[in-house]
Amino acid sequence: MKLTVVGCSGSFPSAESACSSYLVEADGFRLLLDMGNGALGELQRHIGLYDLDAIFLSHLHADHCIDMCGYFVARYYRHEGGRCEAIPVFAPEGAEQRLTTAYADSPSDKAMSEVFDFRTLKSGSFQVGPFSVRTEKVCHPVEAYGIRIEHGGRSLTYSGDTGVCDALHELAVGADLFLCEASFTHGKEDIPALHLNGREAGAEAARSRVGRLVLTHIPPWTDGAQNLADARAVYDGPAELARPGAVYEI
Ligand SMILES: [Zn+2]
Ligand SMILES: [Zn+2]
Repeated sequence: MKLTVVGCSGSFPSAESACSSYLVEADGFRLLLDMGNGALGELQRHIGLYDLDAIFLSHLHADHCIDMCGYFVARYYRHEGGRCEAIPVFAPEGAEQRLTTAYADSPSDKAMSEVFDFRTLKSGSFQVGPFSVRTEKVCHPVEAYGIRIEHGGRSLTYSGDTGVCDALHELAVGADLFLCEASFTHGKEDIPALHLNGREAGAEAARSRVGRLVLTHIPPWTDGAQNLADARAVYDGPAELARPGAVYEI
């Protein structure tokens, strides 16, 4: 599997990065995890606008899904070749209505579904192209999912947005790469059931014995280096901060 960090800023974009979006590729299949603010532009640095095969939206906070409105325009009003066929979009309940409302000027209530094949996420296991996927509901103020993706005996776990929870552990156990949010700073922000801090992300990486930890979703006002140091204090495997454009061969 090849993982490309399209955007990794938490909550809102930074000067350096779009919000959450990660491209996972194998056997020519392209799965995008989240499409937050600014991600659609960055995505075009890596692949063509119409090269995606499936999209996973971890939850419906704007920093994970709002560029789907622009992507709707690109697929619905495509200038050459006519309207795009519906691409599978795995998302929590209500995604179609939320995105239709956000777009505000949709030609009809059903226009989104002409180019997006919305499939309601639940906790469970299923196949997406060549990927064996497992999703679990994680701990966040809105319905949110983490995801584990396996292919060719290798595994990638993406936390989405979550506080500490057993579901995240179940997804992360033994993962070759653990793409884990670390929005908060240990000792500074202490709001339960919302986000992880660097230390908590590191502790989960250690507990789950992952092969590599990549911290992501760090907001522009947060010191990523501090969060990384906090993670390294409790996890002794390879750990780094996600960077836009970073590529991992898993
Ligand atoms: Zn977020
Ligand atoms: Zn969120």
